[in-house]
Formats: sequence, C-alpha cells, structure tokens
Amino acid sequence: MSKFFKDHYQVVIIGGGLAGMACALRLQKWGIKDILILEKHNLPGGLATSFVRSGKEIEATLHEMMSIGNEKDQLKVGAFFEEMGVDIKWLPVPECYRVVCPEDDLDMILHDGYETAAREIDKEVPGTYQQTLDFFKLMRRVYDSMNYLSVNEVPKAKMLLQHTDFVRTLGYSATEVMDALLSLPEKYRMPLYLHGVWGCTIEETAAALDLTPAALRMRLTRARRALAEILEN
Ligand SMILES: Cc1cc2nc3c(=O)[nH]c(=O)nc-3n(C[C@H](O)[C@H](O)[C@H](O)COP(=O)(O)OP(=O)(O)OC[C@H]3O[C@@H](n4cnc5c(N)ncnc54)[C@H](O)[C@@H]3O)c2cc1C
Repeated sequence: MSKFFKDHYQVVIIGGGLAGMACALRLQKWGIKDILILEKHNLPGGLATSFVRSGKEIEATLHEMMSIGNEKDQLKVGAFFEEMGVDIKWLPVPECYRVVCPEDDLDMILHDGYETAAREIDKEVPGTYQQTLDFFKLMRRVYDSMNYLSVNEVPKAKMLLQHTDFVRTLGYSATEVMDALLSLPEKYRMPLYLHGVWGCTIEETAAALDLTPAALRMRLTRARRALAEILEN
C-alpha cells in the first residue's frame, strides 16, 4: 500500500483554520511548496464554519469580514488576498443588519451608511439620531486607527496624540490610564476626567471648570500630551 504521508515536510502547520491556511498561502507565495496542514476536524475552516438546520444556514462564528477596503483603497485583508492572487468578487450588502427583538416587538433592518442607519434607529427610538451618529463615527475612527496601527509601528506616545479614540477604547489598560490620569496636576486632570472619562461635552466641561470652550480645547491638548508622557515613561 502506498504511503499517504511523507516522512519529512519543510513546514508542518497544525490547524486548518483561517490562520493556518493563510500561513500556508503566504509560505507558498514565498516559494515554500512542501507544506503539510494537519486538521483534526473533518472540514477545514476552524471557527469560520456554518451548518444547516431546518433549511437555514447558521454561521458558527464569523459573519462578516473586516479590513477589506475597496478597489481604490485596499485594507490589510483585501491587500493580503490581492497579494496572494486570490480573486474574490465581494458583493455589497445594502441591508447591513436586521435586528429582531420579539419581546419588544422590534424588527428593524439597518441599511448601509451611518446617516441612514442612525435615521432608521431614530425612527424606532426617537431623539437618538445624533448620539447614534456620533457613536458610529467614533467606531469608524477606532476602526481606521486599528487598520493603520496593525500595519504601522507607532510609539505609544504618538498613538495617544494621533489615535486618541483608539487609545481611549483599546490601547492601554484602564488601570494604566487611570493611574497616569490621577498623577496629573489638577488643571489637566479635571478636563480629561470630565470630558474623556465621564463623557461630558466640551460645553458642559468648560462650564464646570469656568473656562471658555476654546480655552478648554487648548487645555485638553496639553493634558493629553502630559498624559502621553507619563504613559510613555
Ligand atoms: C462568536 C464569534 C464571532 C466571530 N465573528 C467574527 C466576525 O464577524 N468577523 C471576523 O473576522 N472574525 C470573527 N470571529 C473571529 C474569527 O472567527 C477567528 O478569529 C478566526 O476564525 C480564528 O481563526 P484561527 O485559524 O486562528 O483559529 P480556529 O478557527 O480556531 O482554527 C484552529 C483550527 O485548528 C484545529 N486544531 C486545533 N488543535 C488541533 C490539533 N491538535 N491538531 C489538528 N488540528 C487542530 C481546529 O480544529 C481548527 O480547525 C468571531 C469569533 C467568534 C468566536
């Protein structure tokens, strides 16, 4: 009986999920062809899998792929596929999400576009348009920073200054930030605390601290710089 496996491979990858298969693809592109992927499941894909029940396809985990970009402005994952020569035709999905909450009698389809989705949410929950739009835009800034930072090395202090929203939500642990914040002099601590931690608006924070909004903005810039220095050292 002929032997199915060879005795030696240049590379053995354990696990045929997205990471294992992407790794094999990359190695092949670099000219390493002698690769074995060992997968314990009867299907490749790992977490990226789906199954059918009662005629409905159910995704086990991932349901959308981030960092593709578009033809003109490709992001990390899109660029990876392109570089690997994998030709995928991406289909736009105008109905981004459907939210169904039977107990609240809610069945809502959110369409593509921040303003559109915020308007649709506002129709169901009146008076929330601006907060929802601000939230979407915050998420967009964090997402853009994430894409930039995942392929560019940036010192932490620069990150704090140029990717403020990312740092606020993901960059440092809460303890690190709070310790640094509490060690700032009061004139810097309070503006950051009220605006950055508690989420008070510029106007509310300025009024509480008896400053003009313009003076507060300047104070916040200096305070962020001071905070960056503490975190960096
Ligand atoms: C609920 C949920 C929702 C998610 N949603 C999204 C999303 O919307 N978008 C997105 O981009 N990502 C999403 N993710 C993340 C994404 O699914 C994973 O990051 C990605 O699939 C992980 O790939 P991986 O190859 O690192 O690991 P895995 O997919 O876990 O692959 C590991 C593989 O190794 C195999 N293996 C393990 N041990 C052995 C062994 N000893 N021998 C042989 N084989 C072995 C396993 O069977 C498996 O096939 C989600 C994850 C979860 C849990």
